[in-house]
Amino acid sequence: VHPADSLVHALRRAAAEHPERTFLAYFDGRIGYREADELSDSVAGYLAARGVAPGDRVAVQLQNSPHFVLAVLGAWKAGAAVVPVNPMYKSGEVAHILRDAEAAALVCSDRAWEAYLRDTAAGSPVRVALTACERDFQSRDDERVLAFERLPQAPDADDLAAVARAGHRPPESPAPGPADIALISYTSGTSGAPKGATNTHGNIMFNAERQRTGLGLPEAPVYFALAPLFHITGMVCEFGACLSSAGTLVLAYRFEAGVVLDAFAEHRPHYTVGPSTAFMALAAHPSVTRDHFSSFRVISSGGAPLPPALVEKFRAAFGPYIRNGYGLTECTAPCASVPPHLEAPVDPVSGTLAVGLPGPDTVVRIVDDEGREVPFGEPGEIVVSGPQVVPGYWRRPQATAETFPGGELRTGDIGFMDEQGWLYVVDRKKDMINASGFKVWPREVEDVLYTHPAVREAAVVGVPDGYRGETVRAYVSLRPGAAADPGELAAYCKERLAAYKYPRQVEILPELPKTASGKILRRELRSRTQDGRQD
Ligand code: ATP
Repeated sequence: VHPADSLVHALRRAAAEHPERTFLAYFDGRIGYREADELSDSVAGYLAARGVAPGDRVAVQLQNSPHFVLAVLGAWKAGAAVVPVNPMYKSGEVAHILRDAEAAALVCSDRAWEAYLRDTAAGSPVRVALTACERDFQSRDDERVLAFERLPQAPDADDLAAVARAGHRPPESPAPGPADIALISYTSGTSGAPKGATNTHGNIMFNAERQRTGLGLPEAPVYFALAPLFHITGMVCEFGACLSSAGTLVLAYRFEAGVVLDAFAEHRPHYTVGPSTAFMALAAHPSVTRDHFSSFRVISSGGAPLPPALVEKFRAAFGPYIRNGYGLTECTAPCASVPPHLEAPVDPVSGTLAVGLPGPDTVVRIVDDEGREVPFGEPGEIVVSGPQVVPGYWRRPQATAETFPGGELRTGDIGFMDEQGWLYVVDRKKDMINASGFKVWPREVEDVLYTHPAVREAAVVGVPDGYRGETVRAYVSLRPGAAADPGELAAYCKERLAAYKYPRQVEILPELPKTASGKILRRELRSRTQDGRQD
């Protein structure tokens, strides 16, 4: 098959060649390729009629559902770039992203729209709102998965399902080209406030095609969307790879071990990808059996360290070998992975499992602080170049120049390469905290803590956690005369941040350790706690 220019081209081709084949399978429902093409045409026609023009931004804040897929394809057909937003985000976090991206439209749940209108309407760039009510797209009446309840009304918003079914004519604009921005994916890069990595259609197609051709999956493969689609890994390795192979994408709304296992039994998927904690949760579920995994040809893990012991235990108990993969939002998900015919070696010194071999046309180098390449086996910063590396950050020339000197991505990860070319990730230069693959940026949590009237100084670090890998811990000193207890400060953050970001542990110190120049010494704080499992 000749690679398509974009996922819109891939959809049109699949709709012409396999009109009745199931594209989206969810609970008791299914949507075929021709139907998905028509429904997303209608979404595109609606957006264009409401003034969304090519080059505009459409934010999509939804769980893994047909709504998500139709909103993304509809926005692309209207020539817009999609801004995926984590549904766990509170309205303050959403508002920052929508303002930065200057999003003309927002597609989200009724509930999220209500909260957004209530909290952040002032100064919002959003002119068009489409809301989704999950019930319209699924028939199984299961409270665990029916997270959206239709509110009495969603003011100033139209209903996504109704719009998709209204048969609006799509705009005449040409399908997107490889250099057009497909996604503005918010991430904090190596430091600082969230900024949008501009994943082009070319970036996405390169990695989606690699997944299609490199995994040895059968004709019409079945993909299970374990990773969230709003995240780059789900977007590319599940949605993108599925669409470019005209396969079936099984959606289960969001991760819940029992629901996921039922869906495995029903849909018999060939491929899935998720963080290692998802596999631990599946393996620990009371109803799990070996047969749940018997249809899989490839299971991948990415986004967080994969313990070699988990890979072995999982294989012994269930059969499949979990394949590691390494990537960042800035390189549109994977840049190194374990090919299907190989197994990743474990470094005998550190006990670390290799993350993979660099993919085709991808150059991974390990450099020292001066940017000079280091010998095999020696640690340094991982830098990546290749067709999946984004051109830069949205409207941030300085951050782009710093992170992508000469077009090469400085990952902020520390790793080494062995003589066979296997890449190992051992540490990080950046302050990011990785809690089961969910990335937490200390600055964002500290900024919230600093808005609390009692807080004088705040520093947030990641500390080791047996289950999540790392967990968020805050160190705080108080203003003279002010009072606050750790529980209150944690609750204050929880109200304002997505659930995975708030500090599970807060410790109040008389003073935070600082350098002579007054910079808070994060490293020292990090080493205060060897085992963070106190919650
Ligand atoms: P991936 O494409 O691998 O899923 P991601 O989509 O989670 O990565 P980000 O959220 O941008 O992308 O996070 C990227 C960071 O995650 C990397 O810089 C690295 O610190 C960490 N990471 C990703 N994959 C691995 C891995 N296999 N082992 C260890 N750390 C990893």
